[in-house]
Amino acid sequence: MAECPGIYKLSEMKDGLLARIRVPGGILSSKQARVLSKAAETFGNGTIDLTNRANIQLRGIKPDATNELVQKLLNEKLISQSVEHDRLRNITMDPLAGLCDELIDCTEMVKSLDEAFSKLDHPELYSPKMAFVFDGGGETNIGTTPHDFAFLAVKNEATNHEAKFQVSLAGHLTTLYLNPSNIIDEIIKILDHLKPYNGFSNNCDIAEDKSKNIRVKNLLSQLGGKQLLEIIAPNKAIELLEQNKNKQLLHPKNLTKQKEQNKTAINLVSPTGRLKYFQLEGLAELVDRYGSDELRLTTWQGILLPSIEEDHIADIWEKAEAMALLTQQSEQNLQIISCSGSEGCIYGGFETKLTALNLRDELSEFAIPNPVSIHLSACEKGCATRNPTQYLIMQKRNSDNISLYTNTSPSTKKPGKAVTKDQLISEIKKMI
Ligand code: SF4
Repeated sequence: MAECPGIYKLSEMKDGLLARIRVPGGILSSKQARVLSKAAETFGNGTIDLTNRANIQLRGIKPDATNELVQKLLNEKLISQSVEHDRLRNITMDPLAGLCDELIDCTEMVKSLDEAFSKLDHPELYSPKMAFVFDGGGETNIGTTPHDFAFLAVKNEATNHEAKFQVSLAGHLTTLYLNPSNIIDEIIKILDHLKPYNGFSNNCDIAEDKSKNIRVKNLLSQLGGKQLLEIIAPNKAIELLEQNKNKQLLHPKNLTKQKEQNKTAINLVSPTGRLKYFQLEGLAELVDRYGSDELRLTTWQGILLPSIEEDHIADIWEKAEAMALLTQQSEQNLQIISCSGSEGCIYGGFETKLTALNLRDELSEFAIPNPVSIHLSACEKGCATRNPTQYLIMQKRNSDNISLYTNTSPSTKKPGKAVTKDQLISEIKKMI
């Protein structure tokens, strides 16, 4: 399993080195956004990718600039001093957390968990591939996306009608409920119990090779739910329930009324999931002027501007449109998520970003009343999202074949329809 890039281990891409900056919960202050914008301009090629884990990726980093880049980001506390901490996957949450009606505000918990990870003196405590999401019970239902661990706020008979977090393992609900007050300690305990299983090999031995990073889905299939739950929560009668399919994942609307009176969260989308450095700078200016000097990266490769007063919405639309960002709900309903593609990644078979732009252009004549999700993936890895989309367009590595699939994710795809690069856009139009 290839390791994802971080800031201390940059990946070589076609357009230069790629640095991933973790942004816990996707929350960036306007000051941090400006630092990242400047870093992209100074040390990279000015392009910033937004990822499906609410990270920032700086592209085209010059090899002789890496030390200076690290120092700059360390000075601004944008990255961890710990190489092991930096390797971990980002912790994600509902981008509307703390702003709208929900059962539990998770924003502080995400920060606390990340802080706890930064202090772990056992770097091998868990695998860098392990993914965590907090869902406070708001309207996006972000916890329904498959993560190794999802913490879903619930309030029902099983919790004595107190708001608690139900633990979901690799998409399977359990009867393990954690109190918000001590959830961080409980999570660290769970990971401690799993520590001997890091390096778990395919033949169920405890492997010496720590590079075999454990994933909860592998432990579930190799050990079974009962044994895994006994390891995670010893001496508790916990059960594994059904797969978590009751709720539908919903990306934030372009305007969401906040619980605070007269405040609105504005969702903006980049047509390609990518920003130029001056767009990020422009967004920082918008939140400084109209918002709460904070912006949030969503796991849909979008940017949320919280706490905007209603009188300022029209002004923001205008400025965001001038920055070539998508503002209207009908535009946002066409959700095209794409990986870096052949222009940015050595494994890519076709130009995903250009295809995304052309596709938007071609479909602009249609009114799209309900969300249509399309995932363009230039190889089977499916970096842009692991979630199912209505349409998946994927090329096989080392092959000219592109296939169109419906209602599937990169890992669970059914047989698709083969198309050539020239037919791609017309075939997608026909399907939609
Ligand atoms: S999906 Fe494949 S081509 Fe696209 S960025 Fe990931 S590895 Fe590269």
